[in-house]
Amino acid sequence: MKTLIIYVDGMNFTSINNENTPFLHDFGLKYSLLRLKTLLAYTGIENTFISGKLPNETGIWVEFIYRKNLLGKLLKLKPLPNNYLSYVYALGKYIIGDTFLSKLHYIPRKFFDKFSSSVNYGLWKNDFFQKNTFVYYSWPFFVKNNKINLDFIKRNDEYKVKKFIKNFNEDADVYFIHIVDLDKTSHEYGLGHEKTLKEIKKQDEYCSLIANEFISKFNDGVVVLWSDHGFINVKEYIDINSIAKNFKNADYFLDSTLARFWFKDNNTRNEVANELKKLKNGHILSIGEKNMYNIPQSTEQGEVIFAADPGYLILPNFYQGKKPCNGMHGYMPDKADLDGFFIINRKTNKKTLNMNECLGVIYGNL
Ligand SMILES: [Zn+2]
Repeated sequence: MKTLIIYVDGMNFTSINNENTPFLHDFGLKYSLLRLKTLLAYTGIENTFISGKLPNETGIWVEFIYRKNLLGKLLKLKPLPNNYLSYVYALGKYIIGDTFLSKLHYIPRKFFDKFSSSVNYGLWKNDFFQKNTFVYYSWPFFVKNNKINLDFIKRNDEYKVKKFIKNFNEDADVYFIHIVDLDKTSHEYGLGHEKTLKEIKKQDEYCSLIANEFISKFNDGVVVLWSDHGFINVKEYIDINSIAKNFKNADYFLDSTLARFWFKDNNTRNEVANELKKLKNGHILSIGEKNMYNIPQSTEQGEVIFAADPGYLILPNFYQGKKPCNGMHGYMPDKADLDGFFIINRKTNKKTLNMNECLGVIYGNL
């Protein structure tokens, strides 16, 4: 059985309608269109989708965890900006056998040796691919049956879609593509902006093009279209950096919507926690909340984890640097509608789906 999976990064379930996404809307209506419940996670979302296991089962939740990084220790000594070092870092990781390549983003140099990726392997290393023959395309990786083609030149979705479609005549059962331009546009302009709307329409056209081409070749194939999360607009910023940098005995990672801390002593821990408690637009996650959001309990993820309220962006942070943006995801999903969508060309009785249930639906078990 041939299976096509189109992973549309960052499209809200509520963005799907007759006007903006006629293909997704009609295809979903004809078969199954489900609200896909997102997670309070970054890297962990796609891994949950493809493995069927939640972040607290895999340990894959955010991109970086508090774990010594030898490559980072070497790069710390190189007096070059992060965007140049990111290439060296990615290449270095690839050479030592990693297939999940992180950039250094705006991580302060002093922390290069303290944080490592939470995952070392690309999605295609999961059983879902390994038990099949496959074509996998998530830039910079184009992988056919474990044969890797690495392409560091920046490619837009239009280029990727064309390249991907050409491979449908290959001898493979699973075809997977990740398209990301909507995520980029939504971060920059926010939800509801005309440029975002235009990109939503383009993504719908890509989906239509890929799915129709696939069905014309393999007419009994399974077609899955999904999105990991939606977006909400940023209304204000929270400055945690100016608090965190005052504590010599605390290390910290400022994700866009999370601030995670590690401490050398209990005093510092209490002082930092007290400062964070004074902030109005977010709070320190309790153990109960960590359980509820399926966050791994390991201290590598954070000894103290502060989560921003929906619409608040931690700025500066290690992803955007000091540059504000208009759209964001990665909030507590019960406090904002950030759900994605799941479409499959089969009939289901479900209206909503949890991220760890997708695999079961694709296999036809649910
Ligand atoms: Zn994003």
